[in-house]
Amino acid sequence: MTEATDTLRAKLGEVLDVRAALAVLEWDQEVNMPPKGAEARGEQIATLSALAHRLFTHEDVGRLLEDLRAAADTLPEDDRSLVSETLYDYERATRLPEAFVQKLAAERSKAFNAWRKAREESDFAAFSPNLEGLIDLLRQKADMMGYEGSPYNALLEEFERGMTAEQLRVIFGELAPRQRDLVRRIQEKGAQPNIAWLDRAWPEAGQWDFSLEVLRDMGFDFEAGRQDKSPHPFTTNFDIHDVRVTTRIAPRNPLTGLSGSIHEGGHALYEQGFLERDRRTLLAAAPSLGIHESQSRMWENIIGRSRPFWEHYVGVMQAYFPGAMDGVSPEQVYRAMNIVKPSLIRVDADECTYNLHVILRFELEVDLMEGALAVADIPEAWNAKIRDYLDIEVPNDAQGCLQDVHWAHAAVGYFPSYALGNLYAAQLIEAIQKEIPELWSHVAAGKFGALLEWLRVHVHQVGRRKLAPEIVRDATGAAPTAEPYLGYLEQKFGDLYSL
Ligand code: ZN
Repeated sequence: MTEATDTLRAKLGEVLDVRAALAVLEWDQEVNMPPKGAEARGEQIATLSALAHRLFTHEDVGRLLEDLRAAADTLPEDDRSLVSETLYDYERATRLPEAFVQKLAAERSKAFNAWRKAREESDFAAFSPNLEGLIDLLRQKADMMGYEGSPYNALLEEFERGMTAEQLRVIFGELAPRQRDLVRRIQEKGAQPNIAWLDRAWPEAGQWDFSLEVLRDMGFDFEAGRQDKSPHPFTTNFDIHDVRVTTRIAPRNPLTGLSGSIHEGGHALYEQGFLERDRRTLLAAAPSLGIHESQSRMWENIIGRSRPFWEHYVGVMQAYFPGAMDGVSPEQVYRAMNIVKPSLIRVDADECTYNLHVILRFELEVDLMEGALAVADIPEAWNAKIRDYLDIEVPNDAQGCLQDVHWAHAAVGYFPSYALGNLYAAQLIEAIQKEIPELWSHVAAGKFGALLEWLRVHVHQVGRRKLAPEIVRDATGAAPTAEPYLGYLEQKFGDLYSL
């Protein structure tokens, strides 16, 4: 069977090469491309996407996989994982007829343009017919993909394999009331830290160099990756030895660009950390978005918004911004990084309110897919949930149900990954603290080697050999739960706000 696995690896290698070429084009589109290049780039991307799909779903690949499936018992362990993961992707990729895929892509690009305009004018009704069309197509997609329980599960599978709406209801049912209660108690306290020191110009060159130093300290390999600028920070990879991150510098606030770099750096360390022998195969990938997000959120929030982190980096910042940090203590930066304030926009939300934004979107999506909520009624339902979860009023749809691009991209089922990332991160760090008792003194010295090594072994190098809940269970000794994250929040913010 070694001949068959070699052939499979060669065919997969071709598919992954085309996908990497696509990723280069998409990265360039965000980072370098002049505006007039957009039309041609759209065509190039569409052609390469179709080519990658055709190569992967070719019947020769199917036949090869069938043969290998039959001989699975005789295969070495790595090959067995490779065959079962490739089969999983192959079956999903061949379940949708090409005409349907094209129709969905066409409707999605129309919906995206309609959403952009509707958001500018804060007019949900102008986007509503497009969204109705997409939801209808997504229900058809769910039927073609197959599911048990809620049709939502068919879509969730794409982002959080093995997770169900029923399981999420239980997890979120535990999170929501305690996070809401924590936020209310903080609100009642009323006192917020003084951040007057932030109100000055922060030269871009200093911010840029500072973010590179932090990435280097984290263990990002600049011989196998680079950082650039883009309007929306993201991470992409063309190979484990070529991982790209981007950030966005805010001239009036040095902490936002830095947070972006640390977040994307967390994603990038995962991508640089897959096994050498998994290169050019499907195993060099994360099994879910949530576990990927656990890495970025652990570095950005649990590490980068911790007191020990700033005990080290306030001194480093002084070197990059001469004079600007005079008299600013680590405690002041720590507090400025952790202000809790219910707000309308998810991407600006703090650690205490973030999951509430996710949960309300999840609840609406499930209702939409199950037919319990009509598209036209989204604004009212949205505003009621924001009132209920965050005690604030939504002044218009642009700052309400039109704020995220996900639905216009037909990416229903995506949001829960963000919240799961938070939960996985907290559960992992709990285990890490036990196994590396000196973790926080390392962080206070700007040393992250032991932490990264632990993540390499327990998360990164696993690739797709396990599903996300299994990775968490094997690394921590317990199935994923909400408790570690709630404990982390209540302890950290209870202390910060003297609750
Ligand atoms: Zn992320």
